[in-house]
Amino acid sequence: VIRCRAAVAWAPNEPLSVEEVEVAPPKAGEVRIKIVATGICHSDDHVLKGSLPNVEFPVILGHEGAGIVESTGEGVTSVKPGDKVIPLCLPQCGECSFCQNPESNYCQKFHFSEPQNLLPDKTSRFSCKGKQIHHFVWVSTFAEYTVVPEYAVAKIDPAAPLDKVCLFGCGFSTGYGAAINTAKVKPGSTCAVFGLGGVGLSVVMGCKAAGASRIIAVDINKDKFAKAKQLGATDCINPQDFKKPVQEVLTEMTGQGVDYSFEVVGHADTMIAALASCNMSTGVCVMVGVMDSEISIDPTLLLTGRTWKGTMFGGSWKMREDIPKLVSSYLEKKFNPDLLITHTLPFAKVNEGFDLLHAGK
Ligand code: NAD
Ligand code: ZN
Repeated sequence: VIRCRAAVAWAPNEPLSVEEVEVAPPKAGEVRIKIVATGICHSDDHVLKGSLPNVEFPVILGHEGAGIVESTGEGVTSVKPGDKVIPLCLPQCGECSFCQNPESNYCQKFHFSEPQNLLPDKTSRFSCKGKQIHHFVWVSTFAEYTVVPEYAVAKIDPAAPLDKVCLFGCGFSTGYGAAINTAKVKPGSTCAVFGLGGVGLSVVMGCKAAGASRIIAVDINKDKFAKAKQLGATDCINPQDFKKPVQEVLTEMTGQGVDYSFEVVGHADTMIAALASCNMSTGVCVMVGVMDSEISIDPTLLLTGRTWKGTMFGGSWKMREDIPKLVSSYLEKKFNPDLLITHTLPFAKVNEGFDLLHAGK
């Protein structure tokens, strides 16, 4: 058993509490990882606000991390102690029908099908003050050590800087893949991206890499615009600067609406605005933002031919195989998600990280 620090969420709507926890050794088919760096994703915040389904408290959150294998359980063959790895919140069991379908990355072991609050044998490796603490989508990266099933671990290039490539565990791969895999953005096309957090800026990078000729970045926080431009946005607009709805502004800017629109906020109004912003006949709108409420739309929006799609962790990436390839492309300087990193904090200041997220910084 390893004693180390972890940020425990004892209950929803409370700050995280940095505690000493016990992390039990990996059982058969499991891997214990020393987490070196983790990002904060807005989805962690959704969980704290109680708006992600099936999560059980107390829990150790965090799902965008990178680390080094500390030890392995019986039967583990694909990684060994000392390997650099990214733990995967979307596993790749390799056996379910989606893992076997080249067009899907939605492994049926994922949380929405089967809650990942306990490891597959229905027990937890975490305890604190004599209480069992739940895992979060198995990975729980807000801990100095974590235990995950082998099929939720991607082994990456030993040269990868872990404090940078942790973003490949969620934000970068999600946004970049939404453009490349889910929308399949074509060269010369026009795109609109609603929401310029870590995920939305990664969508901008994906649209640019796919050769889009116009990328319109949309956010109510104009402080996000400089970085969006640096990463490839050609225009930046703040919906609050206009009297008319943003979908009308975008339609006027592009003639018939954009070819591809992306919602990367998680609000009903931006979902509808993003859908209405794409070309009424051939446009594709991709939903990336997570929301817990229902929305109603005018069905005519789809009747005229638009396509409305959702995406999880970047569409068709096969997580165990493709995340290491993405990391290698990063090492070959094919893209630069380092620009997404705004602050680097010591672990004990994890709540300050959430304050910065809330403040739009
Ligand atoms: P973030 O908080 O860093 O960024 C959200 C951005 O949206 C901010 O810049 C904010 O100013 C902007 N925004 C807020 N209201 C807006 C409005 N009305 N119009 C335009 N912009 C507005 O969040 P993030 O970490 O980048 O995550 C974005 C969303 O993606 C979240 O909902 C998160 O849960 C979701 N997400 C989905 C997946 C997936 O697999 N589908 C993966 C990761 C994150
Ligand atoms: Zn995430």
